[in-house]
This record gives sequence, structure tokens and C-alpha cells, in this order.
Amino acid sequence: MRYSQYLLSTLKETPADAEVVSHQLMMRAGMIRKVAAGIYSYLPLGLRSIRKVEQIVREEMNRAGAIELLMPMVVPAELWQESGRWEQYGKELLRIKDRKDSAFCLGPTHEEVITDIVRREVRSYRQLPLNLYQIQSKFRDEIRPRFGLMRGREFIMKDAYSFDVDEAGADVVYEKMYQAYRRIFERCGLRFRAVEADTGNIGGSSSHEFMVLADSGEDAIVSCDSCEYAANVEKAEVCDPQAEAPTPTQTLQKVATPARRTIEEVAEFLKARPEQLIKTLIVQTDAEETVAVLLRGDRELNDIKLCRLLGCNAVELASEELVKQVTGAPTGFAGPVGLKARVLADFEVRSMVDAITGANELDAHYTGVACGRDFAVEAFADLREAVAGDPCPRCSGKLEIWRGIEVGHVFKLGTKYSTALDASFLDAQGQEQVLFMGCYGIGIGRTVAAAIEQNHDANGIIFPMPLAPFQVIVTMVNPNDEPVNQAAVALYEELLELGIEVLLDDRDERPGSKFKDADLLGIPLRVTVGARGLKESSLELQERRSGQREMIPVAEVGAVVVERVRQALSA
Ligand code: ATP
Ligand code: MG
Repeated sequence: MRYSQYLLSTLKETPADAEVVSHQLMMRAGMIRKVAAGIYSYLPLGLRSIRKVEQIVREEMNRAGAIELLMPMVVPAELWQESGRWEQYGKELLRIKDRKDSAFCLGPTHEEVITDIVRREVRSYRQLPLNLYQIQSKFRDEIRPRFGLMRGREFIMKDAYSFDVDEAGADVVYEKMYQAYRRIFERCGLRFRAVEADTGNIGGSSSHEFMVLADSGEDAIVSCDSCEYAANVEKAEVCDPQAEAPTPTQTLQKVATPARRTIEEVAEFLKARPEQLIKTLIVQTDAEETVAVLLRGDRELNDIKLCRLLGCNAVELASEELVKQVTGAPTGFAGPVGLKARVLADFEVRSMVDAITGANELDAHYTGVACGRDFAVEAFADLREAVAGDPCPRCSGKLEIWRGIEVGHVFKLGTKYSTALDASFLDAQGQEQVLFMGCYGIGIGRTVAAAIEQNHDANGIIFPMPLAPFQVIVTMVNPNDEPVNQAAVALYEELLELGIEVLLDDRDERPGSKFKDADLLGIPLRVTVGARGLKESSLELQERRSGQREMIPVAEVGAVVVERVRQALSA
């Protein structure tokens, strides 16, 4: 491709609404343009990287035995009503009506449609197992679309769905897909971790998320420093420390804490450390149940663990009004002593003595509080968020914390959708049986964005070779210099012949601004064709990542580039 004939314009300024590096650089490099919040056009350069990810995904899905099909984006409400998700899904589901007033939605995921296909097409165990996938645009009306392709409303996803005769079969395909995902992200040239993930309200079954490691990631993940254990913080287990409670040295005493509400304020005022406080959260469940949750003062509640313990779908902190109703005091002064409510506590609270907690009274706290002596707890459980340094739940190692971007998700669904939609088959005995399902997603655009989050410097993108929109850029220092122009075009044509993806920068621009653009676009290799080098019959080859330059005889450049590209693709 000749730059002068391509649709590619770079921006010098960083767009004001682009908060993260990948969004900034994809805009500046002319890969994407915003059409509306969370809705983007993929310009030619951006589309090339998108297609690269799709190609890797397609090859690995096919290798794993999955079969490609394509479902519609517009889905009739009836299918979603049948699964029950029309009511459950909430506002991320964009609901629309056609001219006959029939209800539809834009598919945010396709379990319903695929299960409908399979229940119509599959009669017998002889047609199973099946693993079907598509690469298609999804729509989710995200509450906060942001970060460009990272969290869009319309975005491209690869979604696969497997159908098996029993759970053992479903386990086999799950493992196959897990391995296929590892290969995909390895082939993309990314640093990633596969982590145990929460299974939400489907429960019981397993799930892994594939996380690209990047400081800007929205997810926190833990991994053990000595074994294979890795999990999303949402799910990361914290063991019961099983510590013996020390003998209390203080007695319960009420003290004035005027206008001190937060853990930090109270700790500072009473000259204590936050970990000496017992944090009391008044929480309301989606089933309108109210509970008090106790944590050590420096810990954070993990909502998902609490939901699992209570068997509910969501929890939120109680309103000011409800707190007053339950504790008799405004927020900031709640405590378990004398509290008339269900009290649950994190394991750590069990051994707390000489502690500080709210007195359920405006501007008052208790000191010298001992768990068990001064208040009772209905149940102790793992309720807090894991932090770096926590013991590994599987071995004697310690947990480390990373930031990650979720690019893929594999999930054992069991029979949730097949039961709801009555998708069954006849087994060898002619008995009707329900299908076992799994689902497997990869965010294609998010993968490109995550690659940029992980691979960039002050000058721009540094594409891993497998995702680069072009493998090489040939920069003519001065297109009006006839020998330079001829040599550059000759090299360009030679590289095309050799099957290399090459962009020829033939623009009549200052060399400095062409080099800047080449760095911004992140093309892994650059060959500079200039009068000075040609005098010595050589061209300069520069590697984007290391910045290393070397002069190579003109006649050898083609072969060297082919070799470098091949090496980088098989790395
Ligand atoms: P998240 O927690 O980030 O919202 P999710 O759990 O809703 O993700 P899945 O339903 O598992 O995501 O979708 C499969 C994959 O699709 C994700 O792993 C991610 O790569 C991608 N994806 C999900 N939502 C978006 C989005 N709004 N924009 C871009 N990619 C997305
Ligand atoms: Mg989501």
C-alpha cells in the first residue's frame, strides 16, 4: 500500500476524551474514529489489526474442532423471554421495535439464538458433540462506555457455544477451548494470565478469564508466587487465618468521637491503627434483606463473596435512612455491640480484641471491644477482598496482585439454557436427554486495544508482529529524488512479491514527520531509503521496539526483512 493513496491521517494532539493510552494512540494513529459514545468506525489501518486477531482466532477455533456460522445481530424478544433473560438482563440489553410493533433486541451475546438453532437441527446423539462459533458485532448498552475499543457499546466478539451429551463431554471441550485460548493469546504475542473467575448466579460450574497484563487494566487479579493458582480478585479465596484470640486487656468503654465517621478519621482521633477498628457495613440485598457485615478496619468487602454467602444476586450499602432505622444513628457510627440485626463477619474479626467500633449513637464509638464477649456473630466467612501478601489458598506461597484486561472468557454453562429452551436429543437408548453447554468469548477489538496498552512508548504504538497492520514501512526520505524514489519503489515491489505486508511512505513530507508517523503507527520494521545510504548501496533497517539501526546492502534487504518477519511471527 502506498501511503499517499491510503486513507490514513495521524493526529498530533491527543483527543481530549481519550483517557487511556490505547484509545489515545488508536485515535492518533488513525485506526478508529468515534461515531457516537462507544460506537466506532474501524478505519483501514485499524481494520487490518482487527482482521489479524480474527484470523488467529479463526485458525485456532478451527483447529480445536469448532465450526463457524453467523447469527443475526437483531434477535426477536420471544427467544429472550423463553430463557427468562428479557426480564433479567437489565439496561445493557438494547430493546427495539419494528414497524409492526414487534419487540427485538440487539444481541449482546447469543446463547438463546444458538440454542434455538441446535434444538431444531440436532435430534440424535450421533450429531454430537458440536462446537459452533461466530465472529460478529455485539451490542451492549454499557452504562459507561469508555477507553475506545476497550469498553464499547458496539464491539466485535468471537463467541463459541459447545453442546455435549453429558458433563464429561462438556469438560473435554472446555479443556480444549482453554488450550485454544492459550494458543491464541500466545500467538498474538501478548503477556497474559488465565485466572479462575466467578461464575455469577449460574454457580457451581467453572470459568476462566484470560487477562492481558497491563497497569491500566480494570480488573485486579491475584497469582501465587510459587504455584499455578491465579484468580480474579472477585473470586480469589482468602483462607481462614484460624488465629487464637488474644486475652483482652481492655473493657468495653464508650468514647466521644465528634464528627469522626470514617475509619481513618476515627483511627486518627483515637490514635489507633485502622486494623484495630471493626468496620460495620449495613448492607441491603436485592431481596430487600438487611445485614450487618463486619470487617477489619483496613479491609474491603468483596460483594460477590457476600452474595454467594447470602444466596442473592446483588448487595448494596444501605441508604442513610435505612442505616438510621437499623442502628438508630446516622452512617459512620454503626457497630455490632447491642445491634439488632443479622451480623456476619469476615474470618479475621473472630480474633479481634481491644478493638474499636461504632456505638450506634451519633458522635460515639466503643473502645476495648472483644468479639464474642461484647457481641455475637451469626457466621464467620471469607468476605474480604484479597490483597498482596495474603497466603495462597492452594500452597504455602504468597499472593501477588496484578492489573489485567479481560480479553477472553470460557464458561461451563451446564444445562441452564438447554433446560430453559428445551433443547434435547435422543441418546443411544432412544431416551430424551438435555444438552450440556459451554460458552467461550473473545473481545476482538479489546484484544487489539490491550495489545497497545501493553506495547507502547512515548512515541507511539509498538505492535507485536502478529497484530501489526503492516509488517514493514519503507520510508522514502525524499520522493522527488529520482534514484531514491526508484530504489524505494523497487524494494516495495520486491517485498510485496515476497509476501510481506508493506506500507510505502511516498508522501512529499519532511523526513522528520514521516519518521514520527512511522513510530506512532508502531510498524515493527522500518527501512529508510535515502540518498546517503544509496551512495554506499545500502539501506537503513530500524526495529521499532529496540530502536536498533543497521545498514544493509540493498540486494540483501528483502531477504533480511523476510527473515526478521518470520522470526517475529514464530517467537
Ligand atoms: P466485562 O466484565 O469487561 O464487562 P463481560 O464479562 O461482560 O466483560 P463477556 O460477556 O464474558 O464479558 O464477553 C466476552 C468478551 O467480550 C470479554 O472477555 C471481552 O473481551 C469482550 N467484551 C465484553 N464487553 C465488551 C465491551 N463493552 N467492549 C469491548 N469488548 C467487550
Ligand atoms: Mg460486561
